[in-house]
Amino acid sequence: MVNGGFGESHVNMLLAMLNIPGICHKNLKEREREVGEKLERMANESCSRNLATEVALTDSPEDGIVVSFDGAWQKRGTGRSYNSLTGHATLIGQKTGKCVGYATKSKKCRICCAAKEKNITPRKHNCKKNWQGSAKSMEPAMACDMLQSVLDQGEKVSTLVMDNDSTTIARVKSTIDKNITKHCDSNHTRKGFTASLIELSKTHKLLRNTKVRSHIERCFSYSISQNKGQPEQLATGLRSIIPHLYGEHSSCGTWCRGNEEGYKHKALPYGKPLDDKDLKVALQSLLEKFISRSSELANMGSTQSNESFNQMVASKAPKRL
Ligand SMILES: [Zn+2]
Ligand SMILES: [Zn+2]
Repeated sequence: MVNGGFGESHVNMLLAMLNIPGICHKNLKEREREVGEKLERMANESCSRNLATEVALTDSPEDGIVVSFDGAWQKRGTGRSYNSLTGHATLIGQKTGKCVGYATKSKKCRICCAAKEKNITPRKHNCKKNWQGSAKSMEPAMACDMLQSVLDQGEKVSTLVMDNDSTTIARVKSTIDKNITKHCDSNHTRKGFTASLIELSKTHKLLRNTKVRSHIERCFSYSISQNKGQPEQLATGLRSIIPHLYGEHSSCGTWCRGNEEGYKHKALPYGKPLDDKDLKVALQSLLEKFISRSSELANMGSTQSNESFNQMVASKAPKRL
């Protein structure tokens, strides 16, 4: 039922079709609670098992394992509106690609709510309400919960791959382990760069040309993907982008044929290098921000698996709160 993502009325419809007496709401809920506990235990056992495998595959487990982290919300509107009542997050091991930890935060509990309405004390129940703050602040809390549970199981996390959320890593460093390093998610970084270019295009007309913009983006992602694990080369690569755009190819690598006779900038207007001075300054300061983080950018991971996992969780848990 949970797997199919449908509820009571659908189950009863199916049972009726099979000529089997339906199940009443109360019974179903009770069974659901029975199964729920078992499922939770299974999930925890599975996480511990995966954690053990992850540790076994790590070269130096005493230094800690590498995991990726991402959180998601139910009912997340477009863009950045966080008014959700539940949040969930996962920790996925880099070596196994399996879930080594999970956390959920819920702001509401049906039983507690109903009791409050009737002005009575709620009956004894397995209460899932564990959050009072805002939906956005669930993410750091869930990260800390999961990392703490890894510690409780006697293992250590050395590196957290995550999006560019500074609150979470700050909280993790201050409450769990100050030595945990953060690696960026490559997708988020690329998106961040594109967003900055679009922001710049408000003042610099030339960047409104999508061909120009995508050429700059391509130079950027190329530098990053070609210089994995080599921060110095990456910094050099990023530094050569602007000269390249402005027709100065001496520092370009093998990827550019700018030094050849009759070279044309296919992606740039009229095949000519750029010559806008103000834009050059603006681009310079944008790239400088990334160059200063080059050691971080050279060691990027991916939170893709977390994102797809979270999506799956969201699709299975109907938004009924
Ligand atoms: Zn409750
Ligand atoms: Zn070049």
